[in-house]
Amino acid sequence: MEQWSETALLLAWYDENGRVLPWRVRGGAHPDPYAVWVSEIMLQQTTVKTVIPYFERWMKRFPDLRTLAAAPLDEVLLLWQGLGYYTRAKKMHQCAGVVAEKFGGHFPADREELLKLPGIGPYTASSLCAFGFNMPETVIDGNVMRVLARRYGIEGEVTREKIAPFAEKLTPPDRSADYASAIMDLGATVCTPQAPACDRCPWSAGCIAREHHLTECIPQLKKSQKKKKQGGVFILLSPEGKLFIRKRGGRGLLSGLWELPWDEEGVFPFETKWQEMALSVRHIFTHMDLELKFFKAVPPFPEAFTAQGVWITPGETELYAFSTLMKKVLKKLLQSSGSGMKCGREISSFTE
Ligand code: SF4
Repeated sequence: MEQWSETALLLAWYDENGRVLPWRVRGGAHPDPYAVWVSEIMLQQTTVKTVIPYFERWMKRFPDLRTLAAAPLDEVLLLWQGLGYYTRAKKMHQCAGVVAEKFGGHFPADREELLKLPGIGPYTASSLCAFGFNMPETVIDGNVMRVLARRYGIEGEVTREKIAPFAEKLTPPDRSADYASAIMDLGATVCTPQAPACDRCPWSAGCIAREHHLTECIPQLKKSQKKKKQGGVFILLSPEGKLFIRKRGGRGLLSGLWELPWDEEGVFPFETKWQEMALSVRHIFTHMDLELKFFKAVPPFPEAFTAQGVWITPGETELYAFSTLMKKVLKKLLQSSGSGMKCGREISSFTE
């Protein structure tokens, strides 16, 4: 059958050219589905290069599911700091608790059971089945969509539904884990978004996009639908140059993390003499393109804020888990205070 020869070509290419990654094994199921799960969650919205050091640190500190379940959430968030989309880390902690209690600390080899766990959607469940248990599951991510859309000449909007029948036919019953890794690697290293290296591709001979010079038009790109917002971040300084931070409450994306008061609409958190600074940061969320302008104030009674947060020195910022947005804010602020160091000595206060 044609699809098996396509699969065989891809697997032969993978055996020679596949990437070596710390969460990957070859020739069958990963002996530790926990490692597969950690990598899959970290890789959502994040590049492989960024994830590798986080993954290694994580596996050293939380080598198994039970250790993760027993750790305090604050420590989990601190280790996640900088990866963004913190809901992922919170859900992982929650999921570890459920798996430890209900399944003795081991993921079940059952897609339906996996889907009932916190933070595990169809994509992660398929990845766990394929990579963690070598089950013939079809894993479809952005790389897979691009490769298959080009290989089979799928024009117009490329959706999971359009791709799934091709992906299912190509997935072999035996080397499913290797196949899933292979097609992802092909997309990441050969069939790249710009300038695919068709001369190095094992599917070059039958590829419709290559044959009809359509690699630049397939897949069709969606227009960005991100909302643009201009908000404010509010720098409260004590007379000694300490900075006010607070822990974000609620159940939103950034809850449980530390922050400087900020608002996406730029609404001042309270009445005081705010002064606009010549600083701003830009941050792209999945749903929003946000620019935050900086405003500062020195409140007359800093002790009035201690019930809502803490006052910190520049050297203490490392002790708290901040979102990527807040890390950008702090970096800008420290740079404007003299890049964190003055004459070789660490600065001890934020300047007014
Ligand atoms: S031949 Fe080129 S466009 Fe077609 S799948 Fe291979 S790299 Fe992608």
